[in-house]
Amino acid sequence: MKIKFLGAARTVTGSCFVIETDKARFAIDCGMHQGSDQIEKRNMDITPYDPAHIDFFIITHAHIDHSGLLPRMTQKGFKGSIYATEPTGDLLNILLLDSAHIQEVEAAGKNKRLLRTGMKADAVPLYATKDAEAVMPLVKTRKYDEVFSPAPGISARFQDAGHILGAAIVELFVEESGETLKLVFSGDIGRPNQLLMKDPSSVHQADYLFMESTYGNRNHKGELESLDELAEAISYSYSNGEKVVIPAFAVERTQEILYSLHLLLRGGKLPKDMPVYLDSPLAIKATEIFRHHKSYLDSETQILIKAGEDPLLLPNLKMSTSTADSIRINETREPAIVISASGMCNAGRIKHHLRHNLWRPGASIVFVGFQAEGTPGRKIVDGAKKIRINNEDIAIAAKVFTINGFSAHAGQDQLLNWLKNFQTGGMQVFLVHGEFSAQEHLASLIRDKFGLSVTIPEYLEEIRLKPGRHFEAIKAPVAAEVQTNLSPLLADLKTKLDDVSGKMEKFQSLSSSQQAEIADLFRQATLNIDRIKNRS
Ligand SMILES: [Zn+2]
Ligand SMILES: [Zn+2]
Repeated sequence: MKIKFLGAARTVTGSCFVIETDKARFAIDCGMHQGSDQIEKRNMDITPYDPAHIDFFIITHAHIDHSGLLPRMTQKGFKGSIYATEPTGDLLNILLLDSAHIQEVEAAGKNKRLLRTGMKADAVPLYATKDAEAVMPLVKTRKYDEVFSPAPGISARFQDAGHILGAAIVELFVEESGETLKLVFSGDIGRPNQLLMKDPSSVHQADYLFMESTYGNRNHKGELESLDELAEAISYSYSNGEKVVIPAFAVERTQEILYSLHLLLRGGKLPKDMPVYLDSPLAIKATEIFRHHKSYLDSETQILIKAGEDPLLLPNLKMSTSTADSIRINETREPAIVISASGMCNAGRIKHHLRHNLWRPGASIVFVGFQAEGTPGRKIVDGAKKIRINNEDIAIAAKVFTINGFSAHAGQDQLLNWLKNFQTGGMQVFLVHGEFSAQEHLASLIRDKFGLSVTIPEYLEEIRLKPGRHFEAIKAPVAAEVQTNLSPLLADLKTKLDDVSGKMEKFQSLSSSQQAEIADLFRQATLNIDRIKNRS
């Protein structure tokens, strides 16, 4: 059996592992590549996927970095089945349509810009609504613990990953030449004690384990501490008559925040007359899906529900579906909590709440999720004094809170504890879904603590798995890597340097603090050039 790593290899996004046995060719996950331009290019060239020759997909969960390329597959000839849990199926429906809509809007915007500069409007979306719609009829739902056989010689079983609603660990049994090998794909492993979600299931045996490592190099703060920090933000802005703005991902994080607010209200830490606005149509739909799949929620939540309490409801909760509802929130000058998307502030309604509140002393901005490098959210977290939103510079006077304890991923110790459940004798571990530095850190801990063989595969690396837990390289990752044409980048750099030379006199007339800032940028640029030079 062969396995090819098409994503989440030394990076977090783009999860996809293509497996070829003597009877079938299939893949675990089909995530979108997100991040730098270089990484996002992988969404365009899908030759390595060969979608028309994939028999089926098994999807661990609905997050776009695990499912976002499914419409690209249907667009390019995939017609097989897509196996997922029932809540994942429902979430895929809303998330993939939303993703297609984002692609369409982005392409339309690009075309407008092209037309304005007198060029041909030839931008096309990565995929369109009809491609996302084509995914849904292919989805076949399976329950946790149910063994199913998607192809001859292959059986699989979902276990609760405790990450988001319906998220699964995949146990895969592959029979070849009379021998059965067991592969386990962890998907994203949840944080134990997470609100709403059950703790991740323990798995006890595998020949090959493909394990996520997002937080391979650090632990999270405690839950109670995080709840206290949220209470502090609320009390700060309430007493100042201002708003608390919470950028949150529509699925899971929003629901966890609603639940946290429910707990704070019960503990007297959320003023009864402070309205809470849920300003994201996607989050409103996702919250309905959570409510629909109550049996997937943890026992604490089920007890609350049985007692007649709805943890996702607050007496003062207001859902704003229309744009007019959304605009109205900032027309009132009352203290309020606003939960909106996107979680990293790079798109959606959250931008307009930031524009209205960032500059107000007394307001608070509360970050409850991961902020990727380069996003507006990351800039605010890193202490920017102002930020550009919709072509306008907005000063930052609001108090910024960064709360780490709401993560939906296991931290380092929790990953190691999950691994402890395996009878580890001889198991081969592949670390996936993590930045390389975090993976190296975790790999050395696993080697030390469990004496296991750990490999960190690279993008496009291909290996053959053999009975006896051996594997051999088929294609060296470096040879398989798509070549990047570096010449245009050098030409671009030279032109930019010429521009800078032409502006030197102007720089010298700026204030001393501005000159110091420019000097700093020069030093950083020189450092980067040195780094490039030393690579040869
Ligand atoms: Zn995830
Ligand atoms: Zn993920």
